[in-house]
Amino acid sequence: MPSLFKIPIEYLNGIGPGKAKLFKKLGVDTVGSLLRMYPRMYEDWSRPLRIADAPRNEVCCIKATVEGAHSPAVIRKNMIVFKVDVIDGYDRMTVTFFNQRYLYDKIKDGGEYLFYGTVRRDFSLYEMTSPTVLNVGEGEKIHPVYAQTAGLTSRQIEKAVLQAIDMLPNKTNDPIPSDILEKYNLCSLDFAIRNIHFPQSADDIERAKKRFAFEELLILQLGMARLKGGRRDVLSRRLENDYSEEFYSMLPFTPTNAQKRAVKDCINDMINCPYPMNRLIQGDVGSGKTAVAAAVCYTVVKNGGQCAFMVPTEVLAQQHYKSFSDLFEDSGITVGILTGSVSAAKKREIYRKLSEGETDIIIGTHALISENVEFDRLNLVITDEQHRFGVSQRAALISKGDSPHILVMSATPIPRTLALMIYGDLDLSVLDEMPPGRRRIDTFLIDGSKRERAYNFLRKQIESGSQCYIVCPLVEQNEDMNLISAEEYVENLKETVLGEYRISLLHGKMKSSEKESVMNDFESGKTDILVSTTVIEVGINVPNATVMLIENAERFGLSQLHQLRGRVGRGNIKSYCILVSDINSKAGTERLNVMCHTNDGFKIADEDLRLRGPGDFFGSRQHGLPEIKIAEDVPVTLLEDTREAALNILGKDPMLKEKCHRGLNFETKRLFAKVGNTEQLQ
Ligand code: ADP
Ligand code: MG
Repeated sequence: MPSLFKIPIEYLNGIGPGKAKLFKKLGVDTVGSLLRMYPRMYEDWSRPLRIADAPRNEVCCIKATVEGAHSPAVIRKNMIVFKVDVIDGYDRMTVTFFNQRYLYDKIKDGGEYLFYGTVRRDFSLYEMTSPTVLNVGEGEKIHPVYAQTAGLTSRQIEKAVLQAIDMLPNKTNDPIPSDILEKYNLCSLDFAIRNIHFPQSADDIERAKKRFAFEELLILQLGMARLKGGRRDVLSRRLENDYSEEFYSMLPFTPTNAQKRAVKDCINDMINCPYPMNRLIQGDVGSGKTAVAAAVCYTVVKNGGQCAFMVPTEVLAQQHYKSFSDLFEDSGITVGILTGSVSAAKKREIYRKLSEGETDIIIGTHALISENVEFDRLNLVITDEQHRFGVSQRAALISKGDSPHILVMSATPIPRTLALMIYGDLDLSVLDEMPPGRRRIDTFLIDGSKRERAYNFLRKQIESGSQCYIVCPLVEQNEDMNLISAEEYVENLKETVLGEYRISLLHGKMKSSEKESVMNDFESGKTDILVSTTVIEVGINVPNATVMLIENAERFGLSQLHQLRGRVGRGNIKSYCILVSDINSKAGTERLNVMCHTNDGFKIADEDLRLRGPGDFFGSRQHGLPEIKIAEDVPVTLLEDTREAALNILGKDPMLKEKCHRGLNFETKRLFAKVGNTEQLQ
């Protein structure tokens, strides 16, 4: 029998080309991938209740007999309604359906059914609206609930999965070798597949989930480790000379030892290693990553190469462009900038200069990966704040050079276990030292009742010549009623003690030219208060800003708060951060208090991982990794176990060529196929 991953989904009964298309939308094209589509949650139909025992405002399953169905009525255009009365032997309930004409033909008077929905009680009348209905017998179990798409319900997916389960061979090839299953107390693949879809109990679900989470993390790490191995086979252009000392003499400050070490690591990679540099620089906000990038660019250009520096936002591109241009003003090095908002005519000029090699260093946004961009001799690709870029975007830029060196910079401190996993394909340099003169940012947690006092504090700061940030979680009010929006906030501020100051608004939905002018005004001191969404989280540098007030602080992850807070305390004036939150749970307060007690991003990240699990650090959104489907909220111990297992396997069999690792090899390729990086996984 061929692998289920080779059998198209259309093979199953009831799935024609139309339905198959809908399945594709959900990422399912074969019977095998259908079995790997995990339920989002479960509905417990296993113990139907009596009508009178239904919990308030909660869905549940009721078993009852139909006693009279009222014919469907058209109540308005495109809206058909029909009702049935049901009885469970004690109580009577009216069930209403909208636009489900086919159900009227299916539900038989006198028949007994299961109704899954919310029971409402209106005096002595019980009602249920639009429940899911199943026949008694087939329905009384725990049902999976799948992500659905228009035209394809969870129930239809469930039917397909049932058929797919029947096609499982007697002996399923388990990609995880049996010694590992045993060592980490994991269930077999066969058990996991059957029970992730059709569990008998909550315990079964947990066992199945743990196994899939383990598998996912194991395969992720094997894949990452091999990607790194992959680039070790290619040759790159090696540099001749180290120009970092010359660069340091141009800097307005003395580099820290950590900065020097990081630069040295990079230059050593590019001079002495036969394969391209593939390095991550991790440094907390303010640790001076830009200067490291500049030093490395300088050396590459002096050796005759071109550099591309990709950043996630236009604002950041402008900022880096400015600091690079200033720094390299008299050095004969040409710096360019390319972003989406540049006019077509200008773009053509930039493209020409790049392809003819006139521009040495180009700084830009995603615009850099446009097809029209060609380089003469691209030797170095840098991406800043890398968690914003996907692996595939990085790959697109890399492909514009002939195996260029790669430098990735991240300002997100990540606990070691995770860093090794997420950046498994990169060598690591850590900037663990701050430039001198930095003072700790004093951080306070207050509730809304003290906002007035906080405003007075901001006022004092502004009076003494400083500027302030205020961060709100949303742009517009309609996104979530419970939260303060930045737009409204600006209006409200005008009524307060801060009303007399110059206030501006910055958010991600603004045009980039608007954003730029708002940022310029703030940077040059033309505005006093910048009210913003999290767009300022990434890399903005205004040393004169000394206070940040963050509204709805409970809505942010600790690492994100830390990133935000890093926008102040960038000069040598004492700086402050005020977290405003009306959260009243002990755990929530404790979490936010971590911010008040430490300024160390790595400690904060550890706390974040301990309190929230690794979900926040994962996901293609953040790291450009293959999508993690099930391992989002696993305990740290599972991360450690999978890492140990991956290292053991690769230690014995780095290319996964042994028979017992064939399944892992296959799964690794399958996972990474989605991010378009498989050519490096032989
Ligand atoms: P980040 O690591 O967050 O990107 P930046 O590169 O933006 O940090 O640097 C933050 C600030 O610190 C900048 O104003 C930069 O000029 C300054 N800086 C960087 N390195 C040093 C240093 N060694 N000594 C003094 N100031 C420095
Ligand atoms: Mg930076």
